[in-house]
Amino acid sequence: MPFTTAHNLSSTSTTTLPVLISGAGPVGLYEALLLTQLGIPVRIIDREMAISPNSRALGLHARSLEIFQFTGTIDDFLERGRAITNVSYYKNARLVGSLPMIRGEEHSMFSRGLILEQAKTSEIFLGKLKEFGVFVEYGWELLDTKVVEGGPGEEEYVETTIRRALVGGNVAEGEDRVMGDVDMRAEQKDKEYETQVVRSKYLVACDGGRSTVRHKINVAFPGRTLTQKSLLWDGHCDCDMSFAGFTLVKGSNGKNLMVFPMDDGVVRIGVDNGDMAPGEDFEQTLRELTIEHFESIVAEVVHPAKFKIKSTIWLTAFKINERRAEQYVYKNRIFLAGDAAHVHSPAGGQGLNTGLHDAHNLAWKLGYVLNGLAKPEFLLPTYEERGAMADRAIQLSSKLLNRRLAMGWVADIKAYFLFLIGPMLVAMLDVEYEKNNINRPHKSQPEPKGDYKVGVRAKEGTLLPFYSSSFVTDTKDKKDPQPTLRLHSLITGVARFHILVFASDHLTTSGAKEISTLLDHHVSQWQSKWTYGSTLRDGYTDKDLFKVHVITGPSSTTSSSSVLLEMSKRDVGKGKVFVDQAGRTHQNYGFAATKGLGGISVIRPDSHVGFRVHGVNEQAWKDVDEYFSTVLVAHYE
Ligand SMILES: Cc1cc2nc3c(=O)[nH]c(=O)nc-3n(C[C@H](O)[C@H](O)[C@H](O)COP(=O)(O)OP(=O)(O)OC[C@H]3O[C@@H](n4cnc5c(N)ncnc54)[C@H](O)[C@@H]3O)c2cc1C
Repeated sequence: MPFTTAHNLSSTSTTTLPVLISGAGPVGLYEALLLTQLGIPVRIIDREMAISPNSRALGLHARSLEIFQFTGTIDDFLERGRAITNVSYYKNARLVGSLPMIRGEEHSMFSRGLILEQAKTSEIFLGKLKEFGVFVEYGWELLDTKVVEGGPGEEEYVETTIRRALVGGNVAEGEDRVMGDVDMRAEQKDKEYETQVVRSKYLVACDGGRSTVRHKINVAFPGRTLTQKSLLWDGHCDCDMSFAGFTLVKGSNGKNLMVFPMDDGVVRIGVDNGDMAPGEDFEQTLRELTIEHFESIVAEVVHPAKFKIKSTIWLTAFKINERRAEQYVYKNRIFLAGDAAHVHSPAGGQGLNTGLHDAHNLAWKLGYVLNGLAKPEFLLPTYEERGAMADRAIQLSSKLLNRRLAMGWVADIKAYFLFLIGPMLVAMLDVEYEKNNINRPHKSQPEPKGDYKVGVRAKEGTLLPFYSSSFVTDTKDKKDPQPTLRLHSLITGVARFHILVFASDHLTTSGAKEISTLLDHHVSQWQSKWTYGSTLRDGYTDKDLFKVHVITGPSSTTSSSSVLLEMSKRDVGKGKVFVDQAGRTHQNYGFAATKGLGGISVIRPDSHVGFRVHGVNEQAWKDVDEYFSTVLVAHYE
């Protein structure tokens, strides 16, 4: 799009930033936070002047809460979010029933997920960034970007042109900011802008469904736009029906309502509002949408109950796109994340969650590469593993939407009882990546299937701290048993690999000494060979990239082996031993808790299994060593 007005100010930067993030929606903010905690300086811009007050996403799934532990924001989320305990089903104004939300305590410590407005999610990330002295540059809009090959002896870089209006903002009056087809707008007449040409090693595009970056680098966004229209309203209302919980209403006119309670008595109502008529102009439909019209639609669905709107915060209409970027990684320099990479219907509430998981997958890889710990051409293309997750999200949301449109909430009940949406799926805990450079099956041991494959999200487990045998029989401890802990509370830290040593019952035999010696030998070698140069700000006081947790089977509780006692006194992450009393944690990772070979699972910094090997003997440790030697570069050699 040619520019027609004069740019009063312009500048070209000659210094190269490590990472530029375009778009400070929740995904861009989360990426900025992760990179900051990884010690990587970032610049984050957004074309708007502030966080959008209109929250599209409301639901945060268990997997998202798990990863928030990495950034120390989880307490804020738990404090501000609300758990939804059940769903009520209505046929018009008649309550048909209520079902508890699917839970899965054994799969995650966050068994329910949370309801929290998207704007509040963004606020939490912004608040945390502020603590680190990082601020969003609002009012700056990305106009263009390209990868520039460096001259002789010069590194390649990304050159990005950004601008800001000298007065007011960049966003044109009346621009539809929800979802829809791509609409590249010309600059506004008579506005004066400042432009900058920015150099960065990497650019992360978190600029939403209409991503300017995606267009500028010509990455296709194949998929489809549905003809079906949806309406969304947030506000206060008077209604004879209780909207205190998550409510689904099926109207005899064929329309379906979804009602979510928000803070301060605000209610969100979403309506499936039928298909586009032949020749209908959606932009016009949007312009002509009135509060009265919306009120009449809802009133008709809940009839004979009364429905009256008292005040409106947001009313909009949107069409659904189901699209996924053909590639997430462009020339190993530009990465698409969040809605810039995938869009789909809100059914199942996965869009924002999927975007946050993209950010989590990418951040540590950039951190490692920028710290010279991995070759960019080896590690960065593995970010493409996120594409399959978007495909799954699109398929699931499409299935849920189609069923809901066809059957209303009957579809939800059917799905519930037929386990079509089980706890793992609903909570997005079943994320699993294909084999690639960092998800490496063992070279000779048989490749396990399903839950134990490399690439799967690290499973949860319940552990006990180890105490000597007396604690099991001690009457005092029997009355006051030691608190159990979750495996996931151990495997945090934005850049750390966690090595889980499943010792089965080897720690109760002469095997204990061997495990302890091998562990100390290998881990000390790794810690000295692979050091992270930037300062990590992730809650640990040390710089150790490798955290080791030894998990012993139940028989160890009756052992008084001196090595075992010594290992129980170690610091967490330095080979401290924990007891898997029920043997379930071993089982979750595919190892026998008694009379087994044991095994080692290497957990990537984003808590996915990168490598696993049966056995805890010297050969097993050598295999782990080979994994790290393949994945990492010995920067300081
Ligand atoms: C009705 C509805 C309900 C939803 N409910 C859920 C739910 O319950 N759960 C869920 O997980 N998801 C849900 N979603 C999806 C969710 O809202 C999106 O997936 C989420 O907003 C994506 O976040 P993002 O940061 O990638 O993009 P966005 O939130 O779109 O942020 C992109 C940012 O980039 C900025 N930007 C754009 N262009 C430029 C540029 N050229 N230069 C600089 N900045 C730019 C924008 O101003 C914006 O701040 C829902 C969506 C809709 C429409």
